[in-house]
Amino acid sequence: MVHNLGSGSSGNALLICAGDATLLIDCGIPRTRLKRVMADASFGFDRLAAVAISHEHGDHVSALDMLPLAGSALVGTPGTLAALGHLGRAGEAINPGAETRIGPFLLRPLAVSHDASEPCGYSIGVHGRRITVMTDLGRPPEDVAEVLANSHLIVLEANYDQHMLAAGPYPHHLKQRIVSGNGHLSNVQCGDLLAAALAGTAIRPVIWLAHLSKTNTRPDVAERVVEQRLARAGIDLAAAAMMRTGGNVWRGEPGSARHVRPVQLSLGF
Ligand SMILES: [Zn+2]
Ligand SMILES: [Zn+2]
Repeated sequence: MVHNLGSGSSGNALLICAGDATLLIDCGIPRTRLKRVMADASFGFDRLAAVAISHEHGDHVSALDMLPLAGSALVGTPGTLAALGHLGRAGEAINPGAETRIGPFLLRPLAVSHDASEPCGYSIGVHGRRITVMTDLGRPPEDVAEVLANSHLIVLEANYDQHMLAAGPYPHHLKQRIVSGNGHLSNVQCGDLLAAALAGTAIRPVIWLAHLSKTNTRPDVAERVVEQRLARAGIDLAAAAMMRTGGNVWRGEPGSARHVRPVQLSLGF
């Protein structure tokens, strides 16, 4: 089961629960929210096998010090762990493209382009399912089509609508940073990356759109643009915007066609 605990510049965290082990991807949600989640046994923080960090920006690591890391691995690229001051201590450095197994999770960092030390996304194999998570990337990576095509849940950044960003209140230098190759992925870039990767795949992945800007896009805009780009490639799949305060849950069910209510099918995952 995968829980979205929060997504966007107000804080990011994704929790993957697989039987007797739990994996947390990023830990940047508000401390009060994390405290509530940790106190709820159904989230499985007492079984935390590893915390995988995408990069050192505050909206991904601000509550890291609240976690009970004794007995859990702290995974990141060498550059990210060094930026966090964890390299060579509790951290478990792994290079993009390599894989490491922690409990039932097979973790593979995916290099992305972003204004941080050595940022990455993650593709995680667990109990016959593949979950791929990529946020905070300035341009689509070149070598992720195969991993996306083999994923059952895809969490991908759809940060901004280019028209809303251009007409919006951000200062010029910030707009330039967002659209740069080291900034964030637009709705169109997100949709085109998915369309290129998913053409011809037999898997119908669930698609969660992540790290939406509060100012420069809206959930309905991001969903519409991504679905349009997929439809242009002949792919009829719904995309769901992840909520900033959490709430999205995936139980291992396949993705749904656009505008059709998804069927909740528990696979005991
Ligand atoms: Zn971020
Ligand atoms: Zn970032």
